[in-house]
Amino acid sequence: MPDEIGDGPSDISMYVADPLFDKEPYGFSGLPPYRGPQRRSVPSGPDRHFDSMDPRSRDYLGVHAYACIHFVLDVWRNYLGRPMHWFFSDFYPRLEIVPFVRWNNAHAGFGFIELGCSEAAGEQSPYALNFDTIAHEIGHLVTLSQTGLPGNLSRDADFFPFSEAISDSISLISFLHFDSAIDRLLRRTKGNLLLYNELNRFAETSPETQIRLATNFRRMSEVTSEAHDRSLPLLGAIFDTIVELYHRELVASGCADHRLLSVNLRDLTQDEFDRFRQTTAEAFRDRPLFFKLALIKARDSVGAAIGAALHRLDPDTMHLGDAALAIASAADLQAAAQLEENFVWREIIGSR
Ligand SMILES: [Zn+2]
Repeated sequence: MPDEIGDGPSDISMYVADPLFDKEPYGFSGLPPYRGPQRRSVPSGPDRHFDSMDPRSRDYLGVHAYACIHFVLDVWRNYLGRPMHWFFSDFYPRLEIVPFVRWNNAHAGFGFIELGCSEAAGEQSPYALNFDTIAHEIGHLVTLSQTGLPGNLSRDADFFPFSEAISDSISLISFLHFDSAIDRLLRRTKGNLLLYNELNRFAETSPETQIRLATNFRRMSEVTSEAHDRSLPLLGAIFDTIVELYHRELVASGCADHRLLSVNLRDLTQDEFDRFRQTTAEAFRDRPLFFKLALIKARDSVGAAIGAALHRLDPDTMHLGDAALAIASAADLQAAAQLEENFVWREIIGSR
């Protein structure tokens, strides 16, 4: 059956291949399929699920990565609204998941995703257990499934910064599909996403050296040409749009003061900020469900706009401005206006 999961785990679109000995990451040494000695395929439990596994076990790494990948794909299939095929499907029908390599990085490429581990304070954390990292890497594959592989990049094409910003956005929006994540985020911030926001936590353990923050204030005139740095304004504009649409929903449902929409949040004084924080916290205490619905609606408006725009872009010639306009024109009216305003503020497009 097409939706059946076999041992490994594996199915018709992907499989886990867990090398028995250390292997060099792909790219430096060849491409899939992995042909060396492997650990045994992880068998499912008696009910054919994998949910009885010990999360500390070695076998769990592959199972967790496999589940996260499917989670992200299930979400983005909806936003894309069209069939998604691996960009490498003419060569490899299935994605190979290598759940552990001794390497301080993670990457996805032609037929594979490979996960190393981060090391902080002498402790190793496998990226196979890190949803944000996996979602970011799968974000690259989702993007490429729609744009196709760049063939002959022109020197000033913006495909790399674009795909970093979109992969981070895919990671962020996918994270917001966990009910528990939304609940915890709202509980911790008391409904105020401008505060201690946890949305950018995915940057903290980023496998890439550049620290990327969704809550940055960078404009195009303030970034270098390095791809991760150059991706920051687009990512920031997308993140700001989610927060502003969320505010709009809160105001519409009577959960927040309408002045929240008329002030520039970047210019708030501490006093004004404290006042907003207090009113939001009180409203959240009384009507938490409205906050959750507001965030879900904001998340989906932006997710759907990105999903619908991707296949319209030409990876060889695109500029960030074209990509931004494609996203805005795929959005619903309210999201489009908000996106445009943020793209202008970030200097990604000119004022219109
Ligand atoms: Zn990346």
